[in-house]
Amino acid sequence: MDKTFYRFWSNKGTRSEPLRPACQLDFWLHPVSTELPVDIRVPRSSLSSVKEYLDAHGIPFSVMINNVQELLNEEKAAMEENQRRERSTRSFNFGAYHTLETIYSWMDTLVAQHANLITKQEVGRSYENRPMYVLKFSTGGSNRPAIWIDTGIHAREWVSQATGVWTANKIATDYGTDASLTSLLNTMDIYLMILTNPDGYAYTHSSDRMWRKTRSINSGYSCRGVDPNRNWDAGFGGPGASSYPCSDSYRGPSAHSEIEVKNVVNLIKSHGNFKAFISVHAYSQLLMYPYGYSCNNVPDQPELDSVGRAAVQKLTSLYGTSYKVGSICKIIYQASGGSIDWSYNLGIKYSYAFELRDTGRYGFILPSSQIIPTASETWLALKHIMEYVRDHPY
Ligand SMILES: [Zn+2]
Repeated sequence: MDKTFYRFWSNKGTRSEPLRPACQLDFWLHPVSTELPVDIRVPRSSLSSVKEYLDAHGIPFSVMINNVQELLNEEKAAMEENQRRERSTRSFNFGAYHTLETIYSWMDTLVAQHANLITKQEVGRSYENRPMYVLKFSTGGSNRPAIWIDTGIHAREWVSQATGVWTANKIATDYGTDASLTSLLNTMDIYLMILTNPDGYAYTHSSDRMWRKTRSINSGYSCRGVDPNRNWDAGFGGPGASSYPCSDSYRGPSAHSEIEVKNVVNLIKSHGNFKAFISVHAYSQLLMYPYGYSCNNVPDQPELDSVGRAAVQKLTSLYGTSYKVGSICKIIYQASGGSIDWSYNLGIKYSYAFELRDTGRYGFILPSSQIIPTASETWLALKHIMEYVRDHPY
């Protein structure tokens, strides 16, 4: 996979992707707004034709990553080195990327160490029959108001899953020592799903690091998978999702066709008392609220916006990382079938989506040295949102 990573700015307002079929381009950021760049991974064999195309259309571009494979090799070497170190020291390094098996077994260790606070619930199985687990942080009560956090619904966004792991440990260790989190957990529950797309995540380790979708079979096509964040019953089938099974943003044959999505839908609905729904992605450094499928303001827009801005202020205070805040449609693009639109329409007012680091220097291949800083700053924003939800019951 010897490929180069290009960046250019789409000033033509075009939504078409004329280059992709012939050149096998992988759009990391689609041409959607004049505010954001377009990032594409280009196979070596298509380099000259893509350059010619951009030059011919007067589109300036820059090279972000000269050789993607080199970065992937470094990432793999770092993981293997870490595995050796973890084995010999019998420890778990939060500043490293891990396989599904390692994360699942670490979850058992965490639950065992905090049995009074955490339970692990299997909410169902994935398409390839992997268990889907949610960690429930609860100090008692029955069906308390709850906060939902999911990471890793898009497989290749590895810093998301790694942030989920760090966050689970943070909640476990801060309970009882951090007064604010302790008071929160005395009245509310937190549900955290770290591997929301387990098949996709396993596939990014075994076969294709750049895989985004689920791994379900599309009948009549050799291309597999559905974009699990275009598959929710919220504006399903509208603009900003593809009906083409080979597309990375393929919406699927019907809303909730993906068992991974359906499992989460069932849990949220049967619980019935979620007050916040937070989905964590990468990359672009954004904090977004509904809608994605429409550019109309939601009724709670002013409140969601001000809570989001305050949360980002906390995030930025740690390392100066800058974030944008806005509705999905206005801040990035119109995208239908997204999870936080669905949760908002279900009545979960505080619905947010994060796009974590970075802004494209490394894109999806964020070096593991940035995991802990990313998770630490994100925690400040998450905590702000959760505290606000605790203090504003509805
Ligand atoms: Zn994503």
